[in-house]
Amino acid sequence: LGSRHGRTWRRYVERVLLLMGSASGTIVGRLAPSPTGVLHLGNARTFLLAWLSARSRGGTVLLRIEDIDGPRIKAGATAQTIEDLRWLGLDWDGEVFEQSSRRALYRAACQRLLDAGLAYPCVCSRKEVDEAASAPHEGAQGVGLDGPVYPGTCRGRFASLEDAKQQTGRDASLRFLVDQDQLAFVDGFRGRERGDIAGDFVVQKRDGEPAYQLAVVVDDAAQEVTEVFRADDLLPSTPRQLLVYRALGLSEPQFTHVPLVVGQDGLRLAKRHGDTSLRHFRDQGVRSEDLVSYLAVLSGLRDELSPVTARELLDGFDLRKLPRVPVRGDDHALI
Ligand code: GLU
Repeated sequence: LGSRHGRTWRRYVERVLLLMGSASGTIVGRLAPSPTGVLHLGNARTFLLAWLSARSRGGTVLLRIEDIDGPRIKAGATAQTIEDLRWLGLDWDGEVFEQSSRRALYRAACQRLLDAGLAYPCVCSRKEVDEAASAPHEGAQGVGLDGPVYPGTCRGRFASLEDAKQQTGRDASLRFLVDQDQLAFVDGFRGRERGDIAGDFVVQKRDGEPAYQLAVVVDDAAQEVTEVFRADDLLPSTPRQLLVYRALGLSEPQFTHVPLVVGQDGLRLAKRHGDTSLRHFRDQGVRSEDLVSYLAVLSGLRDELSPVTARELLDGFDLRKLPRVPVRGDDHALI
C-alpha cells in the first residue's frame, strides 16, 4: 500500500475500532485542552489523571482541541499543546478533533434547541444583564458560568434570530431556557452533587460562535465520550451541560471532577507562583519522567519522587488515592 492509502486505511480501522468499542460499553475518555499556548502543572496533572482513568480500564482516549473556547485561545498554539501532551507521555486514538472545524454541528444543535422552543434569541448586552440582575449569584462565579443570573428579559420576545435583529438592530445570542434552579448528579470522584443552574445561559454567542456549554456537549456526545474527566473549576458548569444533554436527547457521560492544583498559598495557580508551564520545566532540563513523578506524588499515586512514566502509573491506578482537597504545587520542587 502507498503511504496515503495506508493512512486512509489506518484511519478507517481506527474509526471502526472506536465505534465497536463504544458499542460494547468500553470507556471513552477525552483530553480537551484549550490551546492557550501553555500547558502548566495544573492542566498537565488533570490530563495525566484523565488519561490514566480511561487507559487503566482499557479505554479509548480522544484528543479534542477546544480552539474556539474564549479569548484565551492563541492562534497556532495547537501544535504546542500537542507537543506538550506527547512529551508528558500521553497518547490518544484516532485523529485530533478541532472545534474550529466543527461549527456546522454546533449550529445545527442550536437550531434544534430553537425549533424545540428550548432556546430563544436574546439581545441583552452584558452590561444590561448586570444591571437588570439583582445581587450577583453566588453559584454563578465558577469558570464557564457567565456572571449574574439572567432575569429572562428576552424570553418570548422574538420569533427568530433574524426577527430579533430586525426589531432591535442588534445581533442576538441564543439562550437556553431553564425551568429549574438546581440539578443533582453523581460525580465519579466527589459522589452526590447538587449544583445551581443560575438562570438562562448562552448557548450561541452574538457573533454566531457556540458557547463552551454547548460545544462541549455536542462534541462529547458526537464522539461518544463516556467519561468527562476534568478539574473541579468546571464543576459549576456540569448542571448546565446536563440540561443540554437532556434537551438534545443525548446520552449522558459520567462526570468526574478532581481538585485543582493550587499554589503554596492555596490560591489558584497564577504568574505570581512562578512559571509552572511544561515548556519552562523542559527548558530547565526537567525530564518528562521527573515531572510525571512529581504529578504522581501530588496525586497520591506515589509516595516519593522517583522517575516514572505515565504508562508505568497505569498498573494499580486508583482514583480513590487522590487527595480530596486542592493540592499545592510549585515550580521549585523540580528545578
Ligand atoms: N477546554 C477546557 C479547558 O481547557 C476543558 C473543557 C472540559 O473539560 O469540559 O479548560
